[in-house]
Amino acid sequence: MTESRRGFLKLAGLSAVAVAGSAAVSAKATRSEGHEPPATTGKRLALVVDLRKFAKDDALFAAVVEACHKAHSVPDFGDDAKNEVKWIWTEPFETAFHSEEFHYIREDLKGKPTLLLCNHCDNPPCTRVCPTQATWKRAEDGVVMMDWHRCIGCRYCVVACPYGSRSFNWKDPRKAANLAGLDPKAFPTRMRGVVEKCTFCDERLARGEEPACVAACPNGEMAFGDLNDPASEVRRLLTEHLAIRRRPGLGTQPEVYYIVEDPRSLMEVAPAAEVFEVEEGGHA
Ligand code: SF4
Ligand code: SF4
Ligand code: SF4
Repeated sequence: MTESRRGFLKLAGLSAVAVAGSAAVSAKATRSEGHEPPATTGKRLALVVDLRKFAKDDALFAAVVEACHKAHSVPDFGDDAKNEVKWIWTEPFETAFHSEEFHYIREDLKGKPTLLLCNHCDNPPCTRVCPTQATWKRAEDGVVMMDWHRCIGCRYCVVACPYGSRSFNWKDPRKAANLAGLDPKAFPTRMRGVVEKCTFCDERLARGEEPACVAACPNGEMAFGDLNDPASEVRRLLTEHLAIRRRPGLGTQPEVYYIVEDPRSLMEVAPAAEVFEVEEGGHA
């Protein structure tokens, strides 16, 4: 590492908390001023995770994580949690959706694994703090991108992301066990000292393919597409089902949605005839 880069990183470390703080303030300020509705021109890519379908097959979580991490040569340092690098992972439902709305949650959701990844926020605090534009929101479709060659490892973005979606390579990722046998040309490996995260499989999108995690789902447990397209599957799912997003109060406008309930089940009431019979019985 050169002296100038080391000097910059030292300065970056000292200022990271201040910058992240201002990013959070900025996000809240945007919210209090009234967040602009998302652009209706161009694409607005989004991912929908159907937790009702995932509940039917717990093994699918691991398969989806493996599909993503294999496709992107994500390093695996085993039990070394401090150095963990992750693009998609699971946490219990109540941790994933830890907010005031979920102090009391349905028993069947408690402890259930929930898939988490970068939310490709419409209003991302992470991109605003990057001093080198190594991460940015792509104007044409809203994907929050990464350029590892421009990343100087200052970790401003890690502090600014309220979802823990970014990982820093404390160790050399090329020496991780799970990289053995992978084709290094399939996806570029990263180096020690850079940040990485899910990029909505931009390399697959460029080839006209769906994201690897979506392709790993056999029964439509995940869907991906353009929310600005009224005919898209994601638009249909969000129109027909009740979906939630992580920490909506922050004003970041996540583009990953979770279906937790079919609203029709909330509207189901006993047929009038049955109600009548009970009432009749009660009076008999
Ligand atoms: S989830 Fe985090 S890393 Fe992803 S766009 Fe939002 S703030 Fe940035
Ligand atoms: S992407 Fe790299 S350079 Fe940009 S804020 Fe994150 S760590 Fe710093
Ligand atoms: S969209 Fe692609 S990069 Fe993101 S979690 Fe899914 S497979 Fe991984």
